[in-house]
Amino acid sequence: MDHDCLFCKIIAGEIPATIRYEDSQLIVFDDIDPQAPQHFLIVPKKHIRTTLDLAPVDSELIGHVYQVAGQVARDLGFSDEGFRVVNNCNEAGGQTVWHIHFHLLGGRDMTWPPG
Ligand code: 5GP
Ligand code: ZN
Repeated sequence: MDHDCLFCKIIAGEIPATIRYEDSQLIVFDDIDPQAPQHFLIVPKKHIRTTLDLAPVDSELIGHVYQVAGQVARDLGFSDEGFRVVNNCNEAGGQTVWHIHFHLLGGRDMTWPPG
């Protein structure tokens, strides 16, 4: 755990969040500033700073992220209409929290290309 990290504090239960799913590897909670009717953050419990810091040992974890994304979308009833999974890396990529996470967005038509 990184004691200066917002998402590590949410994982540790030190900061409240609306948790939708949790297992030994990751947690899923509501984004505080939703950009779609359904907007969740899928956050590995391991403190990995950015996508650029992923190591070969993390491959199974990232596969699990996508499997859980589909499972959460199914459980909350927006999988069939469609959804988007987004990872922002570094400043120009839109990253603002320095603990790797994946946005799960649904409940509206997504535009392409993203801004
Ligand atoms: P990023 O911009 O790094 O891709 O995504 C960070 C996300 O974290 C943003 O969508 C932002 O709304 C969300 N966020 C920031 N602070 C908090 C918080 O304290 N609680 C929750 N649940 N989400 C947060
Ligand atoms: Zn962290």
